[in-house]
Amino acid sequence: MKEYDIVIIGSGSGGLTSAYTAIGFGKKVLVIDKNLPGGECTWSGCIPSKALISEARRIHSARQVVGPFEYDTSKAMKVVHGVIAKVYEGESIEKLKADGIDFIQGHARFVSPTEIEVNDQIIKSKKTIISTGSSPLKPSIPGLKDVPYLDNDSLFKLEVLPKSIIILGGGAIGIEMAQAMNRLGVKVDLVEMSQRILFREEEVFANRLQKRLTHEGVYIHVGSKAVNVNQLDSGIKLTVEQNGTLKEITAESILVAIGRQANIEGLGLDQAGVQYDKRKIQVNEYMQTSQSHIYAVGDVVGPFLFSHMANVQGIQAVQNAVLPIKRKVKDEVVAWTTFSEPELARAGMTESEARAEYGDEIRVYDYDFDHLDRAMTKGDTDEGVKIILDKSGKVLGASVYADRAGEMISEIQLLRSLNKNFSKLASVIHPYPTYGEVFNKIGKQVAVDNLLLNPVVKLFRK
Ligand SMILES: Cc1cc2nc3c(=O)[nH]c(=O)nc-3n(C[C@H](O)[C@H](O)[C@H](O)COP(=O)(O)OP(=O)(O)OC[C@H]3O[C@@H](n4cnc5c(N)ncnc54)[C@H](O)[C@@H]3O)c2cc1C
Repeated sequence: MKEYDIVIIGSGSGGLTSAYTAIGFGKKVLVIDKNLPGGECTWSGCIPSKALISEARRIHSARQVVGPFEYDTSKAMKVVHGVIAKVYEGESIEKLKADGIDFIQGHARFVSPTEIEVNDQIIKSKKTIISTGSSPLKPSIPGLKDVPYLDNDSLFKLEVLPKSIIILGGGAIGIEMAQAMNRLGVKVDLVEMSQRILFREEEVFANRLQKRLTHEGVYIHVGSKAVNVNQLDSGIKLTVEQNGTLKEITAESILVAIGRQANIEGLGLDQAGVQYDKRKIQVNEYMQTSQSHIYAVGDVVGPFLFSHMANVQGIQAVQNAVLPIKRKVKDEVVAWTTFSEPELARAGMTESEARAEYGDEIRVYDYDFDHLDRAMTKGDTDEGVKIILDKSGKVLGASVYADRAGEMISEIQLLRSLNKNFSKLASVIHPYPTYGEVFNKIGKQVAVDNLLLNPVVKLFRK
């Protein structure tokens, strides 16, 4: 029976990061995956979606210059497949082998807390990391399972996009794909049950983005509950209920993007003695499961289903597995981005979340970019930022709605992870004219307000 120091089940973001961290510690490492290495991010998530978005952006810009033209979406899918192949080169089976990581392709299942079965062989493992990820949630809408619907697993395998599509779900994935496909010439109907898209995001920016998408030509149906799906000769019919009335939407295809479910089935978690519920594997703050030598990371654990969170958890889980001192994963400094145009990035709380927790003690700084020189140079200025601080000036949350907001939010992340006051940015020189300058401007305002709110200054002013 083969024995390893660390066996990793699943080779997505969490699994691969764990593997490379483990070999860094000189451990004998085996990675098992039922598919090729790379996981969702490479094959059906971050990478293909961002490749499609980039291609769509290019076509959209070209149309703005030369006017409308026909576009063959098989070209976009070729770009997507090419980018996947390129990224896979850096994480292929051969690459893992060359880097000293053993890989077995097959379905892994615990047969005991220290033994894993794969391809009819038993592997013994001193420590195990479970990083089996998540799968698209299959909603129980009558008729859906009888039609050939798309999800993120099947969408990026297409050779050509459908002429028209219904997208079910106005979360990040639904929004990114709606804008990209519409820009590539697909007629898009987006259906969302809440009263607005991106309902967890800062309301003012989600509403602006909704307006933008509508202006670009996406048909957005908010407050709409999907009640029935039917196959037609020409495609799919979705019936939705909106304000008590039924409405029919037809399209060539339907994409379901309404949530995720943890991949825990068939893993033998009971045999391993690992506790779980139907949403996730239970872990403590050190990423340990109920079996202290088995760790779990990434989407299978949550709560934030992002590649960067899977990476952080993977590194920490391995360090905790091999080092005598264990460290906690700090979920509270998470940040994320919806890669629409403009992007909508978020770190920490929204204003309403902060108010719910801290009442009127919070300080809110809104800055719309119609006053920001760099944004003005490009002429479209519905972008902006909202910064929410506690009464001392520390960041509770921030939302950035702008070109490259995903890059901009990292400056806020730096402040948050170093636990610094926002006023520190008042003295940081930002190149002119850049979007980042907005943080310098707000920083100056915060520095003044900090002074004015100082009890001694208040007394003196009185
Ligand atoms: C369309 C889309 C766009 C996204 N965009 C972004 C983005 O821009 N930024 C971002 O941070 N996140 C994004 N995400 C989320 C991101 O893809 C996931 O959070 C991340 O991939 C999770 O990594 P993981 O390691 O937990 O799981 P995964 O990457 O899902 O890897 C799990 C692996 O486990 C394997 N596996 C499962 N069960 C078994 C078993 N029993 N035996 C063997 N192997 C098994 C699977 O084959 C898979 O390879 C996106 C997701 C989607 C769907």
